[in-house]
Amino acid sequence: MLNYSGVCKRYDGQLALDRIDLDCPEGATTVLIGPSGCGKSTLLRLAAGLIRADAGQVWFEGAPLGAENLRAARLRMGYMIQEGGLFPHLSVRANVELMARELGWAAPRRRARLAELTELVRLPTPLLDRFPLELSGGQRQRAALMRALMLNPDLILLDEPLGALDPMIRVELQRELAAIFQRLHKTVLMVTHDLAEAVFFGDQLVLLRAGRIVQQGSAQALLQSPVEEFVTAFVNAQRAPQRVLTQYKYC
Ligand code: ADP
Ligand code: MG
Repeated sequence: MLNYSGVCKRYDGQLALDRIDLDCPEGATTVLIGPSGCGKSTLLRLAAGLIRADAGQVWFEGAPLGAENLRAARLRMGYMIQEGGLFPHLSVRANVELMARELGWAAPRRRARLAELTELVRLPTPLLDRFPLELSGGQRQRAALMRALMLNPDLILLDEPLGALDPMIRVELQRELAAIFQRLHKTVLMVTHDLAEAVFFGDQLVLLRAGRIVQQGSAQALLQSPVEEFVTAFVNAQRAPQRVLTQYKYC
């Protein structure tokens, strides 16, 4: 569904992504992990067409992503940027409905979709009329997720969707998000810096370092067959990785 072939990206001459080859298969969840600044968000921005590769190509459903197909492709993607990115001056409802209004959806259709989504992400309906700053962190994340899902996208791009949440809420939302993915059968490309979260969600994990893919594959392979010292160092720097394995998937 989404592919990167030989993708390079520079910012001000500095290489942020270096010859990235990556395949995000349909219906699967691919998780990008790695230290801050390694290029995770840049990969999502390329998929969403916010920036262009300097070399190589991003492919969406077998076609190169470019000026002629970007808008159509973009309408089939739901993108939740880091920190949620809700507009502070718009109510939750207005934030979530933004693109649907732009596309001319009639009010009953928008209302019906909003009702489905509030149920899906379990956001109490009265909160739709609040502004983002009047919500808790977890509620804001749910609202941002609703906005990303509004057009029923085929590809969901999530940049640290559970980023700034306290651990209890984070675990609760992790479980709910996993249930949502399972229910929707979508292709997901997600960023996290938390290995436990990556293991929990990922059919495929992609570990990046300084703009390059170090290792890519199952969580089990990453944890049990690291290809180089950096993988081991990254894994060991996270909390109790073996417990994570048994807790989530491989018990
Ligand atoms: P991550 O999401 O993994 O933390 P990013 O993809 O945001 O990393 O950034 C990768 C690298 O590119 C970092 O070194 C970052 O400083 C740099 N970078 C990202 N966006 C810009 C930008 N708009 N201008 C200049 N440098 C940028
Ligand atoms: Mg980032």
